[in-house]
Amino acid sequence: MQTHGWGRTRTYGAGALALMAALTGCSSASGTPAAPPVKSSAPPGAPAASSSASAAPQGTGWAKWGLQPLPQAPAAPADKPIKLARTGTVPVFSEVPTKDKVVFITIDDGAEKDPKFVEMMNDLKVPISMFLTRDIVKDDYGYFKPLQALGNHIQNHTVDHPVMSKIPAERQKTEVCDDQAALTQQYGKAPLLFRPPYGDGAHTPTLNTSVQQCGPRAIVLWRESMQIHDMQYQAADKKLRPGDIILAHFRGPKDLKGETMTQMFGELLSRIQEQGFAVARLEDYIQAPTG
Ligand SMILES: [Zn+2]
Repeated sequence: MQTHGWGRTRTYGAGALALMAALTGCSSASGTPAAPPVKSSAPPGAPAASSSASAAPQGTGWAKWGLQPLPQAPAAPADKPIKLARTGTVPVFSEVPTKDKVVFITIDDGAEKDPKFVEMMNDLKVPISMFLTRDIVKDDYGYFKPLQALGNHIQNHTVDHPVMSKIPAERQKTEVCDDQAALTQQYGKAPLLFRPPYGDGAHTPTLNTSVQQCGPRAIVLWRESMQIHDMQYQAADKKLRPGDIILAHFRGPKDLKGETMTQMFGELLSRIQEQGFAVARLEDYIQAPTG
């Protein structure tokens, strides 16, 4: 019987490792050359306070974290650009069609459970979506509850983070359905969205069917992947575009060359702020199935 521990007992074949590196999702940041820092982040005491209170409506703690406040996100659109159906094939998307100058932050797995990050989110009120893997979070489901209480949604990211295309349909279904059940029980709400580890198998009929059978109504990929100091971009010009979905991870010093979760997240916010984008809540742009 294989033990499905994550990061300790699980081993991947060479093919899987190559796939992981190619897709960048959930591979160790330390194993991936980070793009050169665009510029150093704002030092503590940077003139965040020079912005009026109305310019920082998402929270007043920016200076405390050495950050410039992000622009305010526009109100959630009444007519959601993504509309999900209750049955049938689930769509796969890595960006949201919108002209709003917003991006969306998703944070995966759940390995690092740094109390300072909860404090940071309480201060900044930046919306995030959390794609959680049961066997990575089950030792401390409670860590994510204060983050959920801030209005952030919890979404499905399998039971133990396999390469989905390498496992049979039956086990794919277990991976999605059992994470769905655990997260629903723990957090009181069924995940609406699913993200396959490494983005693998997202476009296969087998995975689509597995997801349909378990409850999530869309498969969500990403456009940018946060490393330590900057993002890996899919666009050649290395610029954010309206509606981009950004992948980050709950990671700590072991995976971030000594940087903490809050330092990494601060760098991410700085890269977004430098490009003049606001961060909006992904679920605010998605119409859940009705009826
Ligand atoms: Zn992952």
